Amino acid sequence: MSDTSPLVRLADGTVKQVGPLTGTRVWTVPGRADRPLGMDRGAPRPLAEGEATRLCAFCEDRHLETTPEKARLVGPSFEELRRVPPRALSDTVARFRRFGNLFEIVSAEYWRENHGFRQPPSIVDWARAYLEDPEGRAHLERLAAVRATASGVPQSLEEHALDLLGGSHDVIVARRHVVDGATTDDQLVSSGMLTPDEHAAYLGFSARSLREIAEGQPHAAYVGVFQNWLRPAGASFEHLHKQLVAIDEHGPQVDRELRLLAGDRWLYQHAIADVAVREGLVVAANDGAVAFAGVGHRYPAFEVYSTAEANLPHEHAPEGVRAVSDLVHALHAATGVHVPTNEEWHYRPPRAPWPMPWRIVLKWRISTPAGFEGGTKIHVNTIDPWSLRSRAIASLERLRSEGRLAGGISIGEECRPGDARLRYAG
Ligand SMILES: [Zn+2]
Repeated sequence: MSDTSPLVRLADGTVKQVGPLTGTRVWTVPGRADRPLGMDRGAPRPLAEGEATRLCAFCEDRHLETTPEKARLVGPSFEELRRVPPRALSDTVARFRRFGNLFEIVSAEYWRENHGFRQPPSIVDWARAYLEDPEGRAHLERLAAVRATASGVPQSLEEHALDLLGGSHDVIVARRHVVDGATTDDQLVSSGMLTPDEHAAYLGFSARSLREIAEGQPHAAYVGVFQNWLRPAGASFEHLHKQLVAIDEHGPQVDRELRLLAGDRWLYQHAIADVAVREGLVVAANDGAVAFAGVGHRYPAFEVYSTAEANLPHEHAPEGVRAVSDLVHALHAATGVHVPTNEEWHYRPPRAPWPMPWRIVLKWRISTPAGFEGGTKIHVNTIDPWSLRSRAIASLERLRSEGRLAGGISIGEECRPGDARLRYAG
């Protein structure tokens, strides 16, 4: 493998790759790329009358099984309503809603015990008002019982309330579990099944929530944003949702990238975007973002880079967020509903010394790492980046002809080298 190319195709067709940002070693062996992707989830089950809106705890007829709602988007213009009380949860239709995760990765107790964090007056007041409302109190009593059983740590109802209202691990949930009018339980609504406008509202809501969580937890160094779709990708429910988790360090991958950035501020241009152009891995682009077939990933992966000057998601202008959303949406649609995926956001931690672009990686979780990987640290990815790009382009062109994608997207050979010019480092 040369210094300039992180991927090479050998005589027999094997493609060897090294992740430019991770150093991950990946091989793709020929003859496995065209296997069907969708997971076998068993025969579709017919839905009973009314079941479509109560299939899981994230469904719209089961709002009280989730924690007190922090915000929701309603109406044709996705207006944001905040802290809707339990008695009013059904007065409007929440197209997306945000609430604390009942089972946090990084708990409220973690921030309290390790960082001495105390909830601000706005959360204390909200908790008091919630408990004074009989329906709110009953809601919190039920949730507290679930939490107490899971954690075994004795807490008062007031403490449970503060943790649930003021936690910094949130979930953002879409309205529909299955499509409206679904007759079987496999008619799921993935990110790609949303309209481009719905997806843009969802992504923008997530970016704004990221800002709020970061501001609400002064000890956080980073807020991880991700979406697990379907069980093989780590999702508990087959109901579309994203998660945002504040953490007190940004983790070793950002450390590694910061070391590389110290030697080259334009790391992502040189090591990713320029390589993608040279190797023919640009999948799609619009005015504000560009999508590549990623090199050196354990799973087939697309990388969507913002081409804006802004670094943090919520510092992007609305049109910049929209551009990223439109490409991410298009790739989700091209992926298909029944393919398990992880969507991972990467951006510059606020206290990091070097500029970094906002990028979203979409991984197809279609294989399970096994003993070969564990023993060698060489990962076998069943689809090489060129094949991934070809598959995606064929799907994107079909979707565009069906009117399913946002406007302004160039696909495959329609993209020009200038579309892959990043601006994050000024
Ligand atoms: Zn559901």
